[in-house]
Amino acid sequence: MKDKLEKLKAFQDPENAADLIQGLRKLVAGRNVLDSVNQYYPNWITSILLGYSPDYPRFKKNWETICNSLEDVKPRDIVLVEIVYEDVILNGLPPDNYNLLIAACDILTYKGYCIRRKGEFIPCEICGLAIPSKAVYDFMKQKKIECPKRWKNRCSGCTI
Ligand SMILES: [Zn+2]
Repeated sequence: MKDKLEKLKAFQDPENAADLIQGLRKLVAGRNVLDSVNQYYPNWITSILLGYSPDYPRFKKNWETICNSLEDVKPRDIVLVEIVYEDVILNGLPPDNYNLLIAACDILTYKGYCIRRKGEFIPCEICGLAIPSKAVYDFMKQKKIECPKRWKNRCSGCTI
């Protein structure tokens, strides 16, 4: 628990957060936003996956629905990150100290990137597409959300 708080505090706003946010908003290419965010918070983005495994069509569909509801947004990569905004709230930290992180999430979402907590997805060991972690899978099963019969760390169509 203490580790979690320490981790969250590492992503608080620097003094020049307002300037950095302005800079981020000016960037056109998503790639440049990712690069800048990596400069400000080198440990925030833990990996970038090119899409969801076809075994879990629901994730892809949901993401497309969200993108369609925003204007002119094309679904792009899945960005796995150390913490998300909800973690700040859940741990009772003041959201006012996280303006840069919130802006980064917002801007990346509008560029079509899907921001997810790193523990929730793993890359398929063969093709690298995103597979929900065992815990997320179990939760889906419990909620009767369509998913493969058994959890595996690779897609059903990916064989060695
Ligand atoms: Zn695969």
